[in-house]
Amino acid sequence: MTLYAGTIVDTPGDPFTGDPGDALAEVGALLVRDGVICARGSVAALRAEYPDEPVTRLDGGLLVPGFVDTHVHFPQIRAIGGLGMPLLDWLERCALPEESKLADRAYAREVASEFFDGLIASGTTSALVFGSHFVPAMDELFAAADHRGLNITSGLVLSDRILRPDLLNSPETALTDSADLILRWHDRGRLRYAVTPRFSLSASDEMLDVCAQLLGKGVWFTSHINENVAEIAQVAGLFPGARHYLDTYLRHGLVTERSVLAHNVHPDDAELAALAERGASVSHCPTSNCALGSGLFPLRRHIEHGVRVALGSDVGAGAGLFLPKEALQAYFIQQLLGPDGLPLTPAHLLYLMTRGGARALGLEDRIGDFAVGKDFDAVWLRPPAGSTLAVNLKHACDTTDALARIFALATPADVASVWIRGVSDQAPR
Ligand SMILES: [Zn+2]
Repeated sequence: MTLYAGTIVDTPGDPFTGDPGDALAEVGALLVRDGVICARGSVAALRAEYPDEPVTRLDGGLLVPGFVDTHVHFPQIRAIGGLGMPLLDWLERCALPEESKLADRAYAREVASEFFDGLIASGTTSALVFGSHFVPAMDELFAAADHRGLNITSGLVLSDRILRPDLLNSPETALTDSADLILRWHDRGRLRYAVTPRFSLSASDEMLDVCAQLLGKGVWFTSHINENVAEIAQVAGLFPGARHYLDTYLRHGLVTERSVLAHNVHPDDAELAALAERGASVSHCPTSNCALGSGLFPLRRHIEHGVRVALGSDVGAGAGLFLPKEALQAYFIQQLLGPDGLPLTPAHLLYLMTRGGARALGLEDRIGDFAVGKDFDAVWLRPPAGSTLAVNLKHACDTTDALARIFALATPADVASVWIRGVSDQAPR
C-alpha cells in the first residue's frame, strides 16, 4: 500500500444540481492498494491508522482525478492546427486524407503510440476514442491502450456514403468486422467497444440499422450531431422523414444511456428533451467549436433539460489533448453567451473533465473522483518553480482559487506525474 499526501481535490458532488462550492472536496491523504483507493482522510489520521505504510509526499500543486476525454479522434493526432475552415472543408482537406493513411497497419501502430503518449502526458487516463475506418488500425489502438492500462472505449468508424471511397464500408462488412472486434476487445481489461457511425451524413439508414444490431451486444454508441449549420442542412436533405438530426439516430434505437453524441451546438428543444428522456450524454468540444466556427454551445439549455454534458478535446479539430484548456474555453464560451450562458466556477470545470466524463461513460462507480473503492487514476499538477503558474499558486487564497489559476494557466508542462490504476507512468519531475 502507498499513502499519498498532498493537496488532493475532487468533485464528489454535482455542481450543476447544487451549490458548486459544495461539489468540491479536499483531503490531505489517500491510501492506495493494488491501484484502488482504500481510505481517504487527513495525513495525521491515515498515518495513525496505517503507521507502516510508505508515504509519497506530493508537495506543491494539486492532485486531481485523471481526466476523462469523451470525444477524441485517434487517427487525427498528426492533423491538429488546420485553422480557417468550417467543418466540411476541414474534414475534406485536413482530417480525412490523414485518416486514409491508417489503412497501413504499421502507420496506424505509430499513430496509436503517439496518441496514447500524448493523452497520458496531458493527464487523460480515460477516453471515449473515435476510432479508425480500418480494422487493423483498431486492433493496434486497442492493443496499445491495453498495454498502457488506460480506460478506453472505442470502435471501428462506419460510413457508406459521401466520404472518399477508401473510407467507406458496406453495411454487410461493417456488421461482420464490428462483431469480430467486439469479440476480441469488448470488456477486456479496461477496454470497451463503441459502435461508431461517423455521422448520419455519411451513414445510410441501412448502416444505422447495422449499428442497432451491434448495440444489442451491450456495447456503447457514439457519433456526431448538430455541429455545423451546413452539415445539419445536408442531413435534413438526406433524411426527408426525420423530425430533426437526433431523429436520424433515434428511429434506429441508437439513443440510450450508453450513447454519447459529440457537439450538439445547434439543438432544438425536442432534441434536448429526447436526449434527457433517454439518459444520453453530450460531449461538449469547446476549442473545436471555436476553431471551426461551429457556434457557441448552449450549455444552459442542456442543463435545464436535464441532459448530461461532459468535455471532449475533439482532436484534431480541437486545439490539443489537454482538457483543462477545453474547460477554460468552455468557460469563455459561456461568458460570451451573456444572459444565455451558464457562468462556470472552478468546481464546474473540474467536474466536467473528471466526474462528469465518468458519468457520461457509465464509469462513475470506478473512476472520476477519489472515493474509496475507485481506481487510483490521478494527475499531479505541479508547475515548475518560478513559472507564472507557480507564482499564482503561491498567492492563491484557497483551493478554489488555486483551481481557477490552474484553469487559466496550466499546460501539459505542469503535469508532474500521472497514475493509471495506481501505476505511475512517469517519475515525478
Ligand atoms: Zn469529432
